[in-house]
Formats: sequence, structure tokens, C-alpha cells
Amino acid sequence: MNLLSRGLFASASLASLAWPVAGRIFSEKLEIDENRSVWAASTPDYQPGPPLAGDTTADLAIIGGGFTGVSTAYHFSRRYPEKRVVLLEAASLANGASGRNGGMMLNWLPYDSPRNPALDALIYATTNAGIDTIEEIIRRHSLPVSYRRDGTLSVFTSPARAEYGHAKAEYQASIGAQVEFIDRAALAARFRLEGAQGAVLDRGSGQLNGCQYVRGLRPVLVEQGVAIYEQTPVLKVEEGRTISLTTPNGRVQTGAIVLATNGYTSKLGYFRDAIFPVVSHVIATAPLNPAQQLGWQEWAGFYDDMDRISYSSITSEGQVIFGGGSPIGWAYTFNNGTCFNGSQAETARVSASVERGLQRYAPDAQGVTIAQRWSGTLGLTLRRNILLGVRGEHHNVFYAVGFNGHGVTLTNVAGQILTDMYSGDDQMWRGLPFYQDSYTPIPPEPFRWAGYKIFSQLSGHLPRY
Ligand SMILES: Cc1cc2nc3c(=O)[nH]c(=O)nc-3n(C[C@H](O)[C@H](O)[C@H](O)COP(=O)(O)OP(=O)(O)OC[C@H]3O[C@@H](n4cnc5c(N)ncnc54)[C@H](O)[C@@H]3O)c2cc1C
Repeated sequence: MNLLSRGLFASASLASLAWPVAGRIFSEKLEIDENRSVWAASTPDYQPGPPLAGDTTADLAIIGGGFTGVSTAYHFSRRYPEKRVVLLEAASLANGASGRNGGMMLNWLPYDSPRNPALDALIYATTNAGIDTIEEIIRRHSLPVSYRRDGTLSVFTSPARAEYGHAKAEYQASIGAQVEFIDRAALAARFRLEGAQGAVLDRGSGQLNGCQYVRGLRPVLVEQGVAIYEQTPVLKVEEGRTISLTTPNGRVQTGAIVLATNGYTSKLGYFRDAIFPVVSHVIATAPLNPAQQLGWQEWAGFYDDMDRISYSSITSEGQVIFGGGSPIGWAYTFNNGTCFNGSQAETARVSASVERGLQRYAPDAQGVTIAQRWSGTLGLTLRRNILLGVRGEHHNVFYAVGFNGHGVTLTNVAGQILTDMYSGDDQMWRGLPFYQDSYTPIPPEPFRWAGYKIFSQLSGHLPRY
């Protein structure tokens, strides 16, 4: 951990002492905006289903209809066909990050000190099997989902960091990962990126159209007996042996719940001191020929080594997605804002900055038409660790939240873990770093907002490694 992070954690812990007072002053409200992503544009005929009207009961009620919610509904209803599963989504399926992301379906490639090869091999194998499961589900149900699994690049933008990347790739290959280091010259010939000094190619990763996947699963879930209510925000959770959920036009009495609300979780009163929502701004070009126009001959996409990460992937129609790329490409809004409510001028400024980010890596993208511009909400934790487990006096509040920008694969594994946890048959997941983890507390407002601003100023243009 570097000095900056140490300072951040220490001051966050100190300012967290203000929670008992500040937590009451700054109450929160759920805000959800429309999904304007390239992925949403690829499901133009999707209509959200009707809201809950009246009261109902359930054995398990899942709050949130993104990857986490849908994967839990899928695995749980297959394991327990006799149990009643209800899924409540505030807007429409895949309206959150799952339908707005950069599309990269990544493996977790650990390289922490001290090294633990046995654990690292297990972490990698778990995420790689998670991608296998996504593919298997698409095939099993003949889902109309575009995806590719021809590899993604982790790009290094200084010679020293490329050296680090090289060593990392060698270690990861030694624990069984399908990775290799691509040096600067080979990279320039196959995936031309201005300023890139080398990259690690992970052949087992790829890209997934999240809207097609999540929305494509709706009829499958219904067939498996899941009751799905879209346009149904949960307004209140009252815990007990039977949990009561209040929605605008009806209540659910349920034996257990799953919080599958990632960046929106604090709005239900949970994990207010653990997760904070950050908005990432994204663009997608009109369809192009990336090989001819940009020199991007192969592979699904890349992400870089900066703290304010740039990420990019290519859809099957040839649209280039690009997100982040500078401190302007990411935003925290006071009091855990889950939407970007910038003025027209601010939106234009942000969008221009993201476009410049793409052009920095791909100068030939200058002048290319931008077809979509959108933003999406991630759930971040201070140590960037996932929170997955069960809590509550009656041991019936399950959660999988805080996926920190790398959730496409792990949210889909989360449904399997939560189902096993519910059944008490979860030994195989114990010991993995995304299981029942603790967290470093995040301070309340106004310290949180001020802290984000200060940290952004200090770390905004620094590398991650
Ligand atoms: C712009 C962007 C780019 C990203 N790029 C990548 C990437 O390239 N690769 C990668 O691995 N990860 C990426 N991520 C992260 C990844 O998309 C997320 O980790 C993942 O989609 C989270 O899925 P989820 O189901 O947990 O949450 P979400 O998809 O956010 O779903 C939560 C759902 O809960 C609903 N909800 C919230 N509150 C309530 C309530 N009170 N009642 C009912 N419903 C509620 C919301 O409407 C939402 O639909 C990106 C994220 C963003 C935002």
C-alpha cells in the first residue's frame, strides 16, 4: 500500500467517528436515471414488466435486477424449484451498471504480496469458471446475446510498469492462467495504442452484452417460476424472522432477501459506511472497422494502468466503447448520488474529455462519430474488496455488493455463491477473498465528498501500480 492510500485510510477511519451524528443529518433518497448505453440500444424492443400491485409472499426476495440479482434468481430457482422467488427491480432489468458497463468480462488475476500460489490459482480458476458458466447459460437457453472470448489486454504506459507487467504475466501463467506478455513492438503491430509500452493478454477473458444477457434471461427465469416485478423500487426493509419489504403499491413478506443493489445499496440503509457510488462516463463510436481504422486487429478490448482507469472494448458491430480516462471521466456526487445530474455544459465538457481519452490512445479515432454517450454507477469500497455474505439477527439478509468496476464476471459467480450459502453448502467458497469480507469504513458527509475531491486531486493522474 502506498503512502497516499495509507493517509486516505487513516483519515477515513478518523472521520468515520462522525457517523452517529452526520448519518442522521444527511438522509438519502434513491434516484435512478435512464440507461442510454450502447447495450440498451441493442435491445430496443425491451419493455419492463409490470410493477408489483398488492401484497405477496416469498421464500426469497431479490432486490435488484442486474447481473447479481438475475444470476441469484437463476441458480436459486434451479436449486429450489419448489420455493417462491420474487425479484424486485426499481426500473427495468439491466438498467444499472450491468447494462451500462464497458463490457469486459474479466478474470481476477491476483499478484499480491506475499504471493500465495495455491490461493491465487483458485481465485483465477473461480473467475474463469464463472465466464465458462456465462457461456454455458447462453448456449443452454439459446439466448440472443453477442459476446466474444478472444482475450483482453491490461496495458502498461511506462517501461518500468511494463517490466512489472511482464513479471506479473510470468507469475500468473505459472498458476495456470492463460496469459502472456506482449511487448511494445508486437503490441504496436496487433493493437496499436499510442504510448503503450507492453501489455498482458488474458486469452480467457472477453466481452459480454449485458443488456442482451440479463434481459434475455427474463423468459428463462419466468419459466423457472421466478416472479419478476420491474418498475418496483423497494422503499423500506423491515427485518425479522419474516422480512417485510415496502414498495409503492404493495408489500412482500419473505423468509430471506438478497441485496443485489451494488452502487445503490446505501439507499436501503445498508452498508452506508462501506460502499460509495461513483459514476463513470462512457462513449461508443458509430460502427467502424477497428482493424483498418485504428490498427486494432484482434482481441476484445483493453484497460490501462492509471488510477483513473481507461477502458475500451469493441462490440460485434464494430462500435468502440471507451470510458473513464481522466479524473473528469469519473465523478462522485454529494451524499451518494447515483445519477449524473450535470448541466448541458458540464455534460458536454465530460463527454469531450472522454473522447480525448480515446484519441490519446487511438489518434485515428479523431473525427469518428460518437453514437452513444452515457454514465453508469459503480459501487466502490475503500480497499476495493467485494462484500458478499449474510447478516441480520435471523441470518436471512444475504448480500453481494461493492464490485468495484470489475463485476461482470464476479456478479455472475455471486448467484452461485449466495445459493450455496443459503443452503449451507458453501465450503468451496470459504477462504476466497470475495467471501464475507470485512471493510474499511468510509466517513459520512461532508467528509466523504471533501475526501473524494482531495484524493482525486492527488491521485487523479497517477498510475495504479
Ligand atoms: C460505466 C461502467 C463501466 C464498467 N465496466 C466494467 C467492465 O468493463 N468490466 C467489468 O467487469 N465491470 C465493469 N463495470 C462494473 C460492473 O458493471 C458491475 O460491477 C456490475 O454490473 C454490478 O452488477 P450488479 O447486478 O451487482 O449491480 P447493478 O447492475 O447496478 O444492478 C443493481 C440494480 O438494482 C436496482 N435497484 C437499486 N436499488 C433498488 C431498490 N431499492 N429496489 C429495487 N431495485 C433497486 C437498480 O435499478 C439496478 O438495476 C462497470 C460499471 C460501470 C458503471
